[in-house]
Amino acid sequence: MDKPIDQAGHWYAGWPGAVTIRCPRCNVRAVFDAPFAVISQPGADGGKPVHQWGTYSVIEKHPNILPWQPPERDTGVPAALTGVVTCPACYFAGKHVLRWPEDAYYQWRLHGQTLWAWNGEHALALYEFIRSGSRDATRYPGYTESLWKLPKVFTVAKARRRVTRLIAERLVNDGLLAPPAPARRSTPPTN
Ligand SMILES: [Zn+2]
Repeated sequence: MDKPIDQAGHWYAGWPGAVTIRCPRCNVRAVFDAPFAVISQPGADGGKPVHQWGTYSVIEKHPNILPWQPPERDTGVPAALTGVVTCPACYFAGKHVLRWPEDAYYQWRLHGQTLWAWNGEHALALYEFIRSGSRDATRYPGYTESLWKLPKVFTVAKARRRVTRLIAERLVNDGLLAPPAPARRSTPPTN
């Protein structure tokens, strides 16, 4: 898999490939993407501009928004994840400095803590994991480690119904989860 990097050459640690954020313009579901990626195989550039950076081949994913500049190593600057946001709702496309988890589209507050997910797939994994009593995080490849680290406040048995209901509301609204049985279905959200 291609490794996303930012302008400072930092690897995006724990990066799932697609990150869903609240659009800075309209607050609706938008996509945050890394500006560049190191490609593992020649020819895997998808027609995007490719640059040599030492021994790496780097794709420029959004050349019109964040053009490639060779990163300076060891600047001592902490990783500020600068990337590109694109919004299918308001068509905004521009540079964005990620603040996490503040920017997360999938986030829920409970008992003073924030439960968040990188994207819809991650939110579904959270939903299934917390709903199941088995707590087998290895069933969710890519998210296993983050599921292990979930604060107890979200996973204890007495919180299960409330947390899964919160997550399910959002997933149903986004069409990622089938609504509950028709008899129990509430009025659809109008947005
Ligand atoms: Zn928008």
